Amino acid sequence: MDETAYFRGIPKAELHLHLDGSVRPRTVFEVAKQTGVPLPVQDAASLTDFLEATDRTASLVEYITFFELPIAIMQTVPALERVTYELCEDLAKDNVRYAEIRYGPWLHVQHGLSLTDVIRAVLSGWGRGKRDFGLEGGIIVTALRDMPPAQNMALAQVAGRFVDEGVIGFDLAGDEAGHPPILHEDAFRIARSLGLNITIHAGEAAGAESVRQAISMGAVRLGHGVRAQEDQEVIAMIKESSVQLDMAPTSNAQTKAVRRLEEHPLRRFYQQGIKVTISTDSRTVSQTTLANEYEKSARLIGCSVDEIWAMNLQALDGGFADQVTRARLRHEFASAEAALRRSS
Ligand SMILES: [Zn+2]
Repeated sequence: MDETAYFRGIPKAELHLHLDGSVRPRTVFEVAKQTGVPLPVQDAASLTDFLEATDRTASLVEYITFFELPIAIMQTVPALERVTYELCEDLAKDNVRYAEIRYGPWLHVQHGLSLTDVIRAVLSGWGRGKRDFGLEGGIIVTALRDMPPAQNMALAQVAGRFVDEGVIGFDLAGDEAGHPPILHEDAFRIARSLGLNITIHAGEAAGAESVRQAISMGAVRLGHGVRAQEDQEVIAMIKESSVQLDMAPTSNAQTKAVRRLEEHPLRRFYQQGIKVTISTDSRTVSQTTLANEYEKSARLIGCSVDEIWAMNLQALDGGFADQVTRARLRHEFASAEAALRRSS
């Protein structure tokens, strides 16, 4: 079987995807020119040095710096709509049929937009993109670890008003060191009470303890969870509570949650019976696609094609959007995959 063609060809589901980490470099350049955002270089080609992490990226803190420029241009309604719509197009090209896109609305209020304006703009781009490119899924609103807890509580309240309009989850992200999830417990209580599904970034830059806290706060899915491997008790807790880990191999190596891709625990966790899924995290910052992440998971982490297909279906099963849609997609995925296997 031609694995590259197979991973490109199968319909896919992606759960862990940052909007601001997935903006096309050309769009950053064009919107910056239109709106007067200062650029570090004056040609679009050299801009990628400021938007893309590499193997030499030292940590999560350095990885996060590659989001600064995209965030600077995502401060108007047209820009937010545009980047969301374009991401939908990029997902469709990667044969992603189910996607959950996340972003932190507080990062987009620097030029006077309200949280409501920001959420509406992204939902508008998502609505158009979803229709034009045949996607299903929804939007996850991300709270930020280094924000005062009261601001994340306010964000949860606003996000909760959009539960029927495509906002399906509430997340916590940002620099883990010194910002334990438990500080934001109240925001997550509000989000849950308003019907938002909970996912939290944990076990990426901080150790297993952050995973323990995230689960205690009602997270049914964790962003990454790589460092859960440091504590067998936490591994047992993940299994027992049936929490799913949405991992992103390239990004996990770039943030140094793992030293090398070859050491990534994805396959080990899968074999231990933990629910794991594969995502890109950030298509531009990590210069990747989901097909590429699947291929790396096979070639460098040692997953079999069948294991990767099972993780893909797990992403669909563990998605936050409505169950009927996910059940329909499961059928479509199965017949498309069977057809692809027959032809290869
Ligand atoms: Zn993430």
